Amino acid sequence: MKQYALAVIGGGASGMMAAVTAAARKECGSVLLLERGGRIGRKLLATGNGRCNISNRNAGRTGYHGAAPGFVRPAMERFTVEKTLRLFEEMGLPVIEEENGKLYPYSLQAAAVLDVLRLELERLGVEIHTDSEVESIRRIKDGSFRLAVQSGADRSEYAAKRVIVACGGEASAGLGGCNGGYRLLEGLGHRITPRLPGIVQLKGDMNGLKGLSGSKFEASLTLKDGQKVCRREDGELLFTDYGVSGPPVMQLSATASRLLDRGRKPVLEVDFLPQIAENALIGMLHRRAKARPDKRLEDYFTGFIPKRLGQCILKLSGAAPLSRLSGSLESHEIEAAARLLKCFPVQITGTNGMKNAQVTIGGADTSQFDPETMESKLVKGLYVTGELYDIDGDCGGYNLQWAWSSGQLAAVQAVDSLA
Ligand SMILES: Cc1cc2nc3c(=O)[nH]c(=O)nc-3n(C[C@H](O)[C@H](O)[C@H](O)COP(=O)(O)OP(=O)(O)OC[C@H]3O[C@@H](n4cnc5c(N)ncnc54)[C@H](O)[C@@H]3O)c2cc1C
Repeated sequence: MKQYALAVIGGGASGMMAAVTAAARKECGSVLLLERGGRIGRKLLATGNGRCNISNRNAGRTGYHGAAPGFVRPAMERFTVEKTLRLFEEMGLPVIEEENGKLYPYSLQAAAVLDVLRLELERLGVEIHTDSEVESIRRIKDGSFRLAVQSGADRSEYAAKRVIVACGGEASAGLGGCNGGYRLLEGLGHRITPRLPGIVQLKGDMNGLKGLSGSKFEASLTLKDGQKVCRREDGELLFTDYGVSGPPVMQLSATASRLLDRGRKPVLEVDFLPQIAENALIGMLHRRAKARPDKRLEDYFTGFIPKRLGQCILKLSGAAPLSRLSGSLESHEIEAAARLLKCFPVQITGTNGMKNAQVTIGGADTSQFDPETMESKLVKGLYVTGELYDIDGDCGGYNLQWAWSSGQLAAVQAVDSLA
């Protein structure tokens, strides 16, 4: 049986970063990267809609959630965003910044990120075994490990002095998400906290907005739990047949997912006209009705807001039938329409589920790991990285930055411990 200095389980973002970091250090011996899928970095190719939002200029102390979000701090301080970008630059990948600190490869292609990582793994002589699923990890008396690996019909055993578990979370099973990492850690006595979908589309009671399915609006969204404002986000809102999607919804969704799990009934309030105050809007709507009193209500909003939205709003304001004339609009109908345009309530009934989620909320209980090293407090020589932890980041590059930082820290510490 071949003995490796380090075995990394999982060829995703954090596993590739860990393998590259370890193999780049002269004092490290052979590095093995085991991936259950047919290729490494499959999920990475799908990130950022194929453009890979590789990091975020603001990723650091804030932007992370879980039972103990401060767990990310040492890793993020050691392998900062700047250091991450420098490493990618050295590997041949320049990066550009877009709105809200979001960082992307200059080519805007996720494939470019995977390409440079793959070339680096090759250059550094990392041994990569795909179609190789680690089924169990056993620590033996001398402190090293035995990994039981299934490759198709074959079963084999690998020996490694140190092990990094970089198996990711359950989100997006179609892109490699699975519960394999949790099972491996549970087998070693680790606690796994309950999991929920995070960064995911939300299902809602569409209250007569069904006709808007497929329409996009620049809107301001407020997620509320009763009277409490939980989070506010602006951006492009997309209505779907099941509910709502789009960047601001994805950003709010982890909070909504947690509220739903606690049996709460979160409401998303949509402001379709964030630049216009409600009183000013009421005045505008009165003037509109006066200017063209003979216009049918079906065209009352035409030229101001999308026609389908206008018609939905008027119906919900009680102004039907839309064959009525604009001049017949009563003050209370105008006020109701203005209120709905400024504060349209969408009752959130669920999320679009783990298979559509971009990140997993919950995972390996961070209190059983040392944040300074990523090493298990229960099993010496075993390290964990990335999404497998009970850590989820905001939408916008935070999750990949956590994968890079935790992967880098775990590898440095694992190699140092071999000395
Ligand atoms: C559609 C989509 C878009 C996203 N876009 C972004 C984005 O733009 N920016 C951002 O910051 N984040 C994004 N994310 C989230 C980000 O991709 C993940 O948080 C990140 O990849 C986690 O890295 P990881 O190394 O922990 O896990 P992963 O990248 O999921 O890698 C884990 C790997 O381990 C393998 N594995 C699991 N179990 C075993 C086993 N037993 N044996 C061997 N191999 C195993 C899996 O097959 C997988 O390849 C997106 C996620 C999705 C699904």
